[in-house]
Amino acid sequence: MTDRHLPKVVRRARRVAAAGAGGIACASVREYVLTCTCAGVWEAHPSKRLADADRIEHLNQVCQVPLEQQCRRPRAHKRAAGEYCELCVTQIALDLGIPGLDDGAVSL
Ligand SMILES: [Zn+2]
Ligand SMILES: [Zn+2]
Repeated sequence: MTDRHLPKVVRRARRVAAAGAGGIACASVREYVLTCTCAGVWEAHPSKRLADADRIEHLNQVCQVPLEQQCRRPRAHKRAAGEYCELCVTQIALDLGIPGLDDGAVSL
């Protein structure tokens, strides 16, 4: 498992049995599936567009800043809402009461 992401849509062919006029025949079905260096597994799709949607969704998930690291005071800290903010991260560490710093002397 790695936290680097390189999502890629790959095309592959799958052999399936298809009922035809003269009985069962083998057909090759083309499908698209998203793969990523984080070893994620996605469902195969019949169209590239759907697999590409998986890729965009995955990238969005990856780029998502964890809730506890998002800025809670965007205006005061000059951040976009939801943006990573080291000021807030530091403040949360203080809120959690790191030993030696929890004397009530710290305020924003
Ligand atoms: Zn990934
Ligand atoms: Zn902040």
